[in-house]
Amino acid sequence: MRLLLPILLLSQIIACQPSTDQEPNSDTTTQPNIVFIMTDDHAKNAMSVYGSKLIETPNLDRIGKEGIVFNRSYVTNSICGPSRAVFLTGKYSHINGFKDNSDRFDGSQVTYPKILQKNNYYTAVVGKWHLKSVPEGFDYWNVLIGQGDYYNPTMVNMGDTLDHTGYTTSVITDLAIEVLDQKIPSDKPFCLMVHHKAPHRNWMPDSVHLALGEQRYPLPDNFYDSYENRPAAAQQDQVISRMFMSSDMKLDPARVPVETETGGSQDNSNIAQGWQRLYDGLTPSQKAYWDAYYMPISDEFFDADLQGNDLVEWKYQRYINDYLKCIMSVDDNVGRLLDYLEQAGQLDNTWIIYTSDQGFYLGEHGWYDKRFMYEESFGMPLVMRYPELIKPGTVNNNLVLNLDFAPTVMDLLQIPTDQPWQGQSILPLMKGSQHEIHPDGVYYHYYEYPHGWHKVKRHYGISTSRYKLIHFYHDIDHWELYDLQQDPQEMNNLYLTADPGLIQDLKDKLKKLQQAYGEDPANFLPS
Ligand code: CA
Repeated sequence: MRLLLPILLLSQIIACQPSTDQEPNSDTTTQPNIVFIMTDDHAKNAMSVYGSKLIETPNLDRIGKEGIVFNRSYVTNSICGPSRAVFLTGKYSHINGFKDNSDRFDGSQVTYPKILQKNNYYTAVVGKWHLKSVPEGFDYWNVLIGQGDYYNPTMVNMGDTLDHTGYTTSVITDLAIEVLDQKIPSDKPFCLMVHHKAPHRNWMPDSVHLALGEQRYPLPDNFYDSYENRPAAAQQDQVISRMFMSSDMKLDPARVPVETETGGSQDNSNIAQGWQRLYDGLTPSQKAYWDAYYMPISDEFFDADLQGNDLVEWKYQRYINDYLKCIMSVDDNVGRLLDYLEQAGQLDNTWIIYTSDQGFYLGEHGWYDKRFMYEESFGMPLVMRYPELIKPGTVNNNLVLNLDFAPTVMDLLQIPTDQPWQGQSILPLMKGSQHEIHPDGVYYHYYEYPHGWHKVKRHYGISTSRYKLIHFYHDIDHWELYDLQQDPQEMNNLYLTADPGLIQDLKDKLKKLQQAYGEDPANFLPS
């Protein structure tokens, strides 16, 4: 026992030694590298670690199996730009100012990459940005313009516009590897954000996956939903039956000169031209394999003259086939990135995160797209690998939010800040705790209506581990209550029949969360 004190003192003395310029970040426990991989619209039902019946995603699964799988991770506002802004700021949409995709991100506000940059991190983002304003807080950025294209993307490299040739998921991965290989100073830890366009609409697969051919997938049980007691669900425009015949179904552009479906748009007059532009943007070799795959599909379709449910189910198969192939490319490319990190000896000292900006419908309720607070679009995949802190095979079933990410970064890296983060650190959960970090439930608010796409009415709500209460308030005044244990597909709205005490308890918790997050319900009374 006597020896303990000198050993302890010696370790303290060593720990207190000022870092040399050559080795400022040798403590991997407090300063891991970070690789944050985010896709766009990846449904948990299309990832095998979440039990997908549709696809195998071995490389994405590997991150979770060798680390942690969060089974109940959610977004605070299920749409692209707003979710990204929440990840970056750790604050709700009404605080960070990016409430829907018509907004522009105020880049002058505090984000976690900015804090990392001030704390000796090399910070970089490649791929989809979609926040309109110029990326701030990055030593290097190379991003798609707007949504970006699936093939031969034009990207903005630190202000310079450059055209690339190739499949965008692979191009973005090449750029990420280039950053790792060539750009990061050897004396700094890094935070690299790899943001894929895939699998966002309009789901154009790569050649290697087209070679797999068209498969037949099972319809979800609730594909033919009648939306009983759910008027907001009935009045959306994101049904597969109305998907674009041109850019979604990928019929021969010459045979669809005018788009006939709404596709969730308020104005479909330029959709067919947009599809022609994408098709014309393919190189001759890309066009050769594209035509070999899609022209026979197009010919068969026009010969068959499908009607009614046959037509709807044909559209579902077309949609799912293309969507899943885009995920396959993501999986292959994430594998390539992991292989690079492994070969570079960087795999185990890098905190790797894979997530999506929100979930997506793969035919549940008859839908594609996102926006609703229902599980498929409210939830998103979240897996992490960092063996220094996360035991392989960890599974967590607590409620966590995209809002929690920025404060978690600060907690894990032990960077004190005076930021009024609205999320909670999930670091204890990463270490194996099953403690609820949102014991009163999580708060959600979607705003993009009546402008924008898909006619999903504005709503806010609360989800506890078992119940979900939603209020659609704009252009409607309608409440929904679900028992997620009894009704995980959210088909049975219990609001009019449930115990009033349960409803009051949820409303009290909802009000408490709104007050805590600085959202004034008077601003969104039914109208
Ligand atoms: Ca998205």
